[in-house]
Amino acid sequence: MSKLRFESVKETMGREPVNVAYVGNRAEIFAKHVFGKEAMQEFLDKEVYEALSEVMITGHKIDRKLADSIATGMKNWAMQHGATHYTHWFQPLTGATAEKHDSFFEIFPGGQAVEKFAGSQLVQQEPDGSSFPNGGIRSTAAARGYTIWDPTSPAFVYGTTLYIPTIFISYTGEVLDYKTPLLRSLTAIDKAATAVAKYFDEEATKVIATLGWEQEYFLVDRALFTSRVDLVTTGRTLVGKDAPRGQELDDHYFADIPQRVMGFMRDLEITSLSLGIPVKTRHNEVAPNQFELAPIFEEANTAVDHNMLLMKVMKDIAHKHNFEVLLHEKPFAGINGSGKHNNWSLMTNTGTNLLNPGKNPKDNLEFLTFFVNTIKAVNEYEELLRASVASAGNDHRLGANEAPPAIISVFIGSQMTQIFEEIKGVAKTDKTKHDETLNLLERIPEIKLDKTDRNRTSPFAFTGNRFEFRAVGSAANSSYPMTILNMIVAKQLELFKKEVDTLIATKKMTNENAILKVLKSYIKDSDKILFSGNGYAKAWEKEAKKRGLSNHKTTPEALNALTDKKTINLFEGMGVLTKREVHAKYEVEMEIYTTKILIEAKALTDIVMGQVVPAAIKYQKELANIVKNMNNIYGKDAKKYSKESLDLLKQVSEDINMIAEGVRKMQKDIKKSEKMSLEAEALFLAKEIKPQFDVIRKHADKLEGLVDDDIWPLAKYSEMLFTK
Ligand code: ADP
Ligand code: MG
Repeated sequence: MSKLRFESVKETMGREPVNVAYVGNRAEIFAKHVFGKEAMQEFLDKEVYEALSEVMITGHKIDRKLADSIATGMKNWAMQHGATHYTHWFQPLTGATAEKHDSFFEIFPGGQAVEKFAGSQLVQQEPDGSSFPNGGIRSTAAARGYTIWDPTSPAFVYGTTLYIPTIFISYTGEVLDYKTPLLRSLTAIDKAATAVAKYFDEEATKVIATLGWEQEYFLVDRALFTSRVDLVTTGRTLVGKDAPRGQELDDHYFADIPQRVMGFMRDLEITSLSLGIPVKTRHNEVAPNQFELAPIFEEANTAVDHNMLLMKVMKDIAHKHNFEVLLHEKPFAGINGSGKHNNWSLMTNTGTNLLNPGKNPKDNLEFLTFFVNTIKAVNEYEELLRASVASAGNDHRLGANEAPPAIISVFIGSQMTQIFEEIKGVAKTDKTKHDETLNLLERIPEIKLDKTDRNRTSPFAFTGNRFEFRAVGSAANSSYPMTILNMIVAKQLELFKKEVDTLIATKKMTNENAILKVLKSYIKDSDKILFSGNGYAKAWEKEAKKRGLSNHKTTPEALNALTDKKTINLFEGMGVLTKREVHAKYEVEMEIYTTKILIEAKALTDIVMGQVVPAAIKYQKELANIVKNMNNIYGKDAKKYSKESLDLLKQVSEDINMIAEGVRKMQKDIKKSEKMSLEAEALFLAKEIKPQFDVIRKHADKLEGLVDDDIWPLAKYSEMLFTK
């Protein structure tokens, strides 16, 4: 490491003490900073507590008087936990969470100072929303937006602030956030899934979607991070030569967690637990300095809020340990990227996991119903599901030589594949007699989570009692993919129920036979989406094309699925978004994409022209001087001695020229793109501009290998990835 760069990190290297003070066991800490059941009971009157508990389940409106009592109780509780301020916490379409803090402090007209929190302040606020993306919605309405309390996700205290989870809508009631569509999709899946679950269980009156996310991330030393403009402004390295020791040794996964990292993890876990985030698993990931954190799964709305909160807390705690946490999907070229697997299932109020194979044929028929309908839904809407995970960052994973591919397919494992084959076989030999299939259902085994059988390249895999949507990016707000998944499965279950009911009514079939008949037809219909081979292989791309599956490798291409008629009908039909809201969402996504690529272009230019080229020129000058001196000393024999320097000079000079030329061309092309429509611009940036980054980068990385380490201005991969 150059002396310059070493000075910047030596302070923090290996700094964490091994033993730390005992802070209590984890069950004791859990949810201490959450306004949950216990706190509510203590700080609210009995009737108020009961009314609020009801609202937390139903999400129904709360009357103003009740709101005043809740607000006062919440404030008193929060102040006991050190809160002086409160904030409506929301999830605008920027991707990050937003907050604006107000203190409880107020002065009454008589001059008396008090701490006050009124019901109206709890229920609704009017943040200055003009800086949040809205896809043209607000420019046509008033320039105002409202945040409205979401009582289904509990409030909490973080630092000195009471956080109140809220939705964010425009003055005219249109969606401006991630949470509202998610809540609507949860209502849709509840309704549709409960109706179907009733075939099997009279007592089923509610179905929730469950989500367990697995958050992958990188840690780098903060001093090194800060020294890199590209990391600071774009979250990823735009230049940087492969580390000599990359993933070749594969010894990182499940290896010892370094001490400083362990200190960070422990702090993070304790803070997360106190906030009610049920974190449970931590381990190294495949790449150096890459890690994963997974909680116990929860109801999807809470799980999403908890993931958003975790990503925020991670940053704060990382800073405390002089780390920076990288949530970008691909911070380092040539090194494994980060995802956020979304484990998803459905659960009834009676405690049944609807994707868990049962112990008898009846339970298995219920399992099979939800299993097959989910697959059918993905089969029908694979393109929309792909669109739900599209982002500039995730383009570096999906379809870019990294798991999973951009093609959405479903992996169900060998046991379920065989059962599908058998069910299809029965259908062939007999039209109405389903006893054979029922016998077959008896044989659905308990599906073991067999690590060796799990296809790591599949974007959507059945893992024994849930589906695992692996195409979600590490930086993403899981709301959106979960909204789409809930919505398409809800739609599918509605269709299913209609078909089954028709068979029962018109063909006088028993419930079981009608269900089986429809499931058989769905299994046959879903052939195209099932795939258990290697998702990396070129052959799969060919095969998928033949099957008619989409394969969108860039965000602008993937997003097109949002605006087609089938999608809009679906959104409107399921009550998740209106046509106007879908268009706004599309526009916002496209805008975010183009903005990100343009920021990257600017950062790349700054870094190569402001740091890489000047360093190379310094070195060029040194080399030129050597060659000149050699000539002076050796005269016509000089060539013999300065051959290497001359060679190096030539290479360095060539790379400098190529970079300058590349940047000029890129600038010219970006100028061209400024006159285009949003769609054309986004596509142009994806197809024409972004590939130019790689050309420029290639020469910058070559220079990194040539220029004297002592004058190289940027932290190197080996330093960022192996500094513990
Ligand atoms: P792996 O890395 O092998 O996929 P992990 O243990 O890291 O497994 O993560 C599994 C995730 O799946 C956890 O977040 C867990 O809570 C979640 N999960 C387990 N069962 C369900 C379920 N029924 N619904 C949703 N998520 C689930
Ligand atoms: Mg997983």
